[in-house]
Amino acid sequence: MQSYKLVARQTNVIKNASEVTVTDDCVIGGRSLVVIAGPCAVEGKAMLLETARAVKAAGASMLRGGAFKPRTSPYAFQGLGEQALEMLAEARAETGLPVATEVMDTRQVELVSQYSDLLQVGARNMQNFALLAEVGRSGKPVLLKRGLSATINDLLLAAEYVMAQGNPRVVLCERGIRTFETATRNTLDLSAVPVLKSETHLPVIVDPSHAAGRADIIGPLACAAVAVGADGLIIEVHPDPSTAKSDGPQSLTIPAFERVMETIRRYALAAERDVREQSHGTSERVLGANRWSEAVPA
Ligand code: PEP
Ligand code: MN
Repeated sequence: MQSYKLVARQTNVIKNASEVTVTDDCVIGGRSLVVIAGPCAVEGKAMLLETARAVKAAGASMLRGGAFKPRTSPYAFQGLGEQALEMLAEARAETGLPVATEVMDTRQVELVSQYSDLLQVGARNMQNFALLAEVGRSGKPVLLKRGLSATINDLLLAAEYVMAQGNPRVVLCERGIRTFETATRNTLDLSAVPVLKSETHLPVIVDPSHAAGRADIIGPLACAAVAVGADGLIIEVHPDPSTAKSDGPQSLTIPAFERVMETIRRYALAAERDVREQSHGTSERVLGANRWSEAVPA
């Protein structure tokens, strides 16, 4: 028996994949491919609502947006905190999209739990064991991102910390790891997806945005993630990436996200997955494989 006994696939009573229910109509790990989309950080009410309406229309099933941002520099924008949580709650009330937002510290778990449907533990906190235990006790579904230099084993043991507190609702996220390569911000470890799927019953989603660090290759990485069996995607979208307070270069514009969703839909079909209906057609025709560069924000 592995040391991650609750997380391991063979110790799951039903031996099958677990489905993590976020809300009644948002389940991660089932037939539906769950796309979580939104800005890196909540920068204000207008931009959040604009993004929320647009990503919903394009077929996203959840809204993302950081309120507490783990920035490399202490002088960089740190997020709007509780104000941002209130804006997320407002966007959820208007669009019906459940929200995912990061919790950085044990002292924030209670507050963030009041607003968020899915508690995100960021890459930099993947081995913050006190935080893992605290989100485990919160009873809220948890999105656990792989650490910058964490092995798959490290990630599974981090998930075990959450489950050991009696919280079975854990979703794993591959978001790129540090390598010698500098053409991308991180290297998307696509092989982690099928490896995780064979090791654990927990759902696995992919974040192509933080892996790539650049908007022009989000589309192909997202499709590749679907092809290797990801249960969902988390993608950064901003109404005007050139003015974004964080992660602008990797954020898709709204039209670029719409085009990426059109193409993801076709890969999802091949992978026998459903994607939420679009509430309107996109203006652009579906992208061919050689037209990805047009998804780059202006
Ligand atoms: C984020 O989702 O904006 C984020 C900071 O992600 P990560 O923890 O994967 O770097
Ligand atoms: Mn980000």
